[in-house]
Amino acid sequence: MAHTNRSVLVVGLGRFGSSIATTLDEQGQDVLAVDISGEMVNRWSPYFPTAQADMTDVIALEQLGVSDFGTAVVAIGDSIEASVITAGNLLDAGINDLWAKSVSKEHARILQRIGVRHIINAEMDAGKRVGHLVSGNYLDYIELEGVHSVVKIHTPAHVAGYSIGDVKVLDRYGVTVVGLKAPGRDFEYGSKDLVMHRNDELVIMGTQDQIDRFIRG
Ligand code: ADP
Repeated sequence: MAHTNRSVLVVGLGRFGSSIATTLDEQGQDVLAVDISGEMVNRWSPYFPTAQADMTDVIALEQLGVSDFGTAVVAIGDSIEASVITAGNLLDAGINDLWAKSVSKEHARILQRIGVRHIINAEMDAGKRVGHLVSGNYLDYIELEGVHSVVKIHTPAHVAGYSIGDVKVLDRYGVTVVGLKAPGRDFEYGSKDLVMHRNDELVIMGTQDQIDRFIRG
């Protein structure tokens, strides 16, 4: 099958790359996953299209026709050198929609400097998320790109019994209440007349500072 601008190239078939390739394939996306290791390629080739190649090698890239792909993900974490060289090669091949996994702040900084648009700090992001959950401040937490997060919390004591409009949540705290779930009831979307009760779970969105101020009151 010819690859197109909608095809995705995944480089590296460790835990991270293989789960990305699996998800893309399950969603019906055209995907090709490449690994330098024959063992990894054999392991995954029953599930989605694979190829064995060293992606730091420009000739191997040409042979795979990587410039036909619209998107690529560099999922190499075992060698920062291989990750950075591969990312550079893919940028040189004209792939602008490039994603790369970083294993440290320094790695992320180099990837950013060479022009990788999307950098995924998988372990650091997961650690941050778990930290928030373990601390018990948030019931759930998703960090959006940039500084915004969507967080699930119990209604802060200082707003319990008041409506979103009474509290002027957005004006006063810069926080949007997406909605709330009262025990035993369906989720309700945020509106100015919606009253936040003590045991409700609120889903709110804002920057970390705004969210923390809203929780503290
Ligand atoms: P994870 O931490 O997600 O399990 P790893 O970082 O351990 O993943 O795996 C990285 C994968 O990238 C390995 O399977 C390795 O063989 C592959 N890899 C490393 N260097 C290259 C390269 N130059 N070209 C292609 N694949 C590579």
